Amino acid sequence: MDSGEFENSTPAGNEQGRHSRESGNELRSSNRLAKARRRMLKRDLEGRDITDPRVLKVMAEIPREEFIPQSWQSQAYADGPLPIGMGQTISQPYIVALMTQELRVNRDCEVLEIGTGSGYQTAVLSKLVKKVYTIERFAQLSESAQAVLGRFGVSNVEFYVGDGSCGWPKSRLPTSRCFDRIMITAAVPKMPEPLAKQLADGGLIVAPVGYGGVQELVACEKKANKIIERLICDVRFVKLLGEYGFEQ
Ligand code: SAM
Repeated sequence: MDSGEFENSTPAGNEQGRHSRESGNELRSSNRLAKARRRMLKRDLEGRDITDPRVLKVMAEIPREEFIPQSWQSQAYADGPLPIGMGQTISQPYIVALMTQELRVNRDCEVLEIGTGSGYQTAVLSKLVKKVYTIERFAQLSESAQAVLGRFGVSNVEFYVGDGSCGWPKSRLPTSRCFDRIMITAAVPKMPEPLAKQLADGGLIVAPVGYGGVQELVACEKKANKIIERLICDVRFVKLLGEYGFEQ
């Protein structure tokens, strides 16, 4: 299985014959972004409570700017969410790192992600686990995420467009087995039942849960069909709209 190589990847890199001044500008801009990424790592991740070296390594390697519209790329390493179209956002880098760390993944994990969005969180997970199954409501966002991950050669992600609150469609699962981990990247009023059902025993779900503008990020562990919830911190997420999410 090849989960792709991000380091030193330049999907929009130099083409032969491009004007040298243009290349010079691109180089300066990519150097600036690389510097900003290192600063983000030190200040916003290590400087807070991100201690998992695997998470830090992956976040150091993946160019977040490739997942956001060009007009926002200079802000790629600012400490906040950014618009990605369709009224949706790419999450703050710290929150991506925190949710990944709290998911406690390993190389054998099969992970279900609800809310593909830009595909950045998907890319982070793809580098740490065996396989990611990701669901997005908007076809346009899913297609754009597929294009970015495709350019990076990531091949351990399966995409689906639909209502993620209902879980991964059973007809598309190779076996009837459950997921080792589930990450919900939009706010849910309560844990969607179909997702709790698709979680393997001993597995974990990390999700923002709550009705208001501020939700609680929770980690839920499934043990002998019981869900044990642990609160992590307050967060602000866009809503998960769907049958087991918020009303449209
Ligand atoms: N993790 C994403 C990233 O790295 O860019 C950010 C996700 S964004 C905060 C939440 C996403 O959930 C949006 O793209 C939104 O369209 C999607 N979403 C909302 N309701 C959904 C549903 N019922 N099923 C699947 N995706 C949904």
